[in-house]
Parts: sequence; structure tokens; C-alpha cells
Amino acid sequence: MAQRVQGTEDLYGGYMRAWQRMQDVAREVFGTYGFDMIETPAIEQVATFVHGIGESTDVVRKEMFRVFSGALVENLLAKGSEQGLKAKQRLALRPEGTAGVVRAAVQNNMVPQGSAPAKLWYAGPMFRGERPQKGRLRQFHQVGVEWLGAPDPASDAECIIMLMRFFERLGFDPKSLRLCINSMGDAACRPAYRDKVRTFILDHAGEMCADCLERAELNPLRAFDCKNAHCREVMAEAPLAPDNLCDECDQHYEQVKRYLDEAGIRYEEDPTLVRGLDYYTRTVFEVEVVGSGVGAIGGGGRYDGLMELEGGKPTPGLGFAVGFERIVLALQAQGVDLGGKPEGCVYVACTPDVRPQVFGVALALRDAGLRVEADHQGRSLKSQFKQADKLGALVCVVLGTDEVAAGMATLRDMRTHEQVQVAQADLASTVAERMA
Ligand code: AMP
Repeated sequence: MAQRVQGTEDLYGGYMRAWQRMQDVAREVFGTYGFDMIETPAIEQVATFVHGIGESTDVVRKEMFRVFSGALVENLLAKGSEQGLKAKQRLALRPEGTAGVVRAAVQNNMVPQGSAPAKLWYAGPMFRGERPQKGRLRQFHQVGVEWLGAPDPASDAECIIMLMRFFERLGFDPKSLRLCINSMGDAACRPAYRDKVRTFILDHAGEMCADCLERAELNPLRAFDCKNAHCREVMAEAPLAPDNLCDECDQHYEQVKRYLDEAGIRYEEDPTLVRGLDYYTRTVFEVEVVGSGVGAIGGGGRYDGLMELEGGKPTPGLGFAVGFERIVLALQAQGVDLGGKPEGCVYVACTPDVRPQVFGVALALRDAGLRVEADHQGRSLKSQFKQADKLGALVCVVLGTDEVAAGMATLRDMRTHEQVQVAQADLASTVAERMA
């Protein structure tokens, strides 16, 4: 039997309905903030991710799935190296959504000078070559937003509020959500802060793991998230980002917090919160569900330098992404079934002699916009009713010899078991009424 790739999942039934429901809620909630949907390709040039996410991040160095055409693979095997490949031949499956959306905004000039910001949301699969475990997949699904052209601290606050409203609408108990925020500074103050953290790590080199020593050179702030508990203990004494902000960043952060306070949003300041990707500046945030054991369900922040890194004009921006699979797990732990039940249907049942009549009746009901099921396996009337129940039919239309001869049908309400006779000509409108 053919096997699914490890760390990937098939979405069907209730799981698929949950994914669709999440997108419906996103469309509703993000729509009230003026966001429109965008879909960018799942495959982009490696350069798009390297510019945006950063060469030194784990995502780019170790986790990106690279894509080569068959002809190119032969060529690569013969040469033994990908050197000499053009940028357009170096492709990868997207490990996250932001870099591609920002690339699209630059390429399509979505934020021309002096225009209103671009407000975009997306939903789709992302790919990372991580070790699969609960809540950590190689193909997973994200919903995210990107807000390009908005420097104001109110946009940071609105973005965070929109995220929290989204979680509440999905059914989370608001008290279970832990929102952590931090500010990572900008091009003016971040480089000096990075240097301070690098020096701190090198001063404690004897106590830190090999990965952190490598991080000291490549991306020292990542040492705050080291999986090694001892490294984290040492890093608890390291200089903190909020203590090293320039005046502009400090004022920006203070204003974001004032807006969140005004909106009554509960948050915790976590001065060690550094998000894994290089592009973040100033506000960063992450949300987890207390006690769920699945890690962060979403996070994001400001990335004022990213448009420029992707070849555009300097344009401030911010956004977030949430993970579908982890949200489903965390909601399940709270007793919430995001997928819910399938839409109720009408079942057209019949006695064997009038089976050919079912075809036309089902067709008319479907053309009236109803979800219609019927038997295609020659079942007895009794087992057709059983199947109707299984399929969650709200109404059964029963065709028998006498009814068909008289141009009538029996309508059986599957909840009350009440039966009435209806003229076939009125069937669609009567059934639609019952279904509502
Ligand atoms: P990130 O861009 O890493 O902050 O990811 C945003 C959200 O996507 C996280 O909060 C998770 O909910 C989800 N996520 C990230 N990586 C994975 C993965 N490998 N498997 C499942 N969900 C993930």
C-alpha cells in the first residue's frame, strides 16, 4: 500500500471541515479590519526566503524543502554541486507565508508611494523538514495576515487584538490564552543589542552548548530559545531587549501597550521573546494555550525592513501566522470540535419499483440548492432510512408506487418522524422550508 509522507496528514471529514471553518472565521474577523485574501505560490525562489527569513535561521539552513526538476537533478548529480545554478533554478517549498506575500506585494507594486496600506490574509500549506511529532509536522497549514505600509503603533495593537478575537471566535476559552509580547528594537538599536548578547554568550562560553556558541556568531538572540535548560538559565542573566531600545522604539512599544490596555487585552511582557525569523523589528508576540502542551498556536510581529530586503522601497509592515493543526489539538483539549457536524441533507428514499424516479426528484432538489443523498446500491427501504440517519438527513423524501402514480411524495421529518404528503411540484420549496 502506498504511504503518506512522514509528517504529513490527509485532511478529510471533520478535519477538513475544521480547516474550512477556520478560513471562514478568518474571512469574517479579518474582513472587519479591512483585510482581503491573497494566494501566493507554494513554491518560490530560495532567494525570497533567504532575503526575508535570514540565512542564519534554522528554517533556511536546515528545514527548507528544496525543489529541483527531474532534469536538473540529473545535472546536479553529474556535477556534484548546485553551484552555477541560476536563482530561478534554486527553488523551495515555502516554510512560511510572509516572505512570499511580501515578495508578491513588491512585485505587483501593491503599496505604491502615498497609497493606503495593503491588508492581506492567506491560508495554505507550509513545509518544513522538521522531526515530526505531536503538533509538529512537515506539511502543516497556516492562516496569516500581512499589513504593509502601516508604521503606527495602533496597527500593532489592532493586529494583536484581531488575532485574539480570531481565537475567541474559534471557540477558545479566552482565559486559557496566554499572549506574550516584547519589542526587539529596530535597525538603529538592534545591532548594538545583538553585539551585547554576543559578548555575553562568549563571556559564558564555558557554560553554553555548541549550538549557542554557533548562534553567538550567526544569530545571538536565538540563544534565548535554546532547548537546553542550562543555556536558558545562563541566558536569564543576559541583557534584555526592552532595556536596550532606542527612544523611538521605546515610545512605540509603550504606545502599543497603552492601546492594548485601552482595549482590555490581557498580555504578559516577555523580555526574552525573540521570534525565530530574522526579519522581525520592534513588536513581537506569541500566543499559547495554557496547559495544552502543543507549544505556540500563533505569533507574529513587525518587520519594517522586510519590503526592502525583498527588493521594494522601505515600507513598514507587520503580521502574524497561526497553525491550524495545533489549534485543532488545543481546541479538542477544551472540548471544542471545530469541524462540527456535516451540513444537514435531504435523503430521497424509494421502493424498488420506482427507483428510476429518484433520479429526477434528486436533480430538482439539488437544482434548488439542497444537499441531496440517495441510495445507489439497491438497498431495502429500511436500510435506506438507516443510511439517511447515518448521513445526518434532516428530511427524507419517500417515493412509493402509489405516490409516484399520483404525482406525490411522502415527506418524513427525521427528527420528529412526522410524515406528510406533498405534491412533487411543491417538493423543493416545502423541503427547503423544513430544512431551515
Ligand atoms: P512560526 O512562523 O514558526 O511562528 O509559526 C507560526 C505557527 O505555525 C506556530 O505558532 C504553530 O502554530 C505553527 N507551526 C509552525 N511550525 C509548525 C510545524 N512544523 N507543524 C505544525 N505547526 C507549526
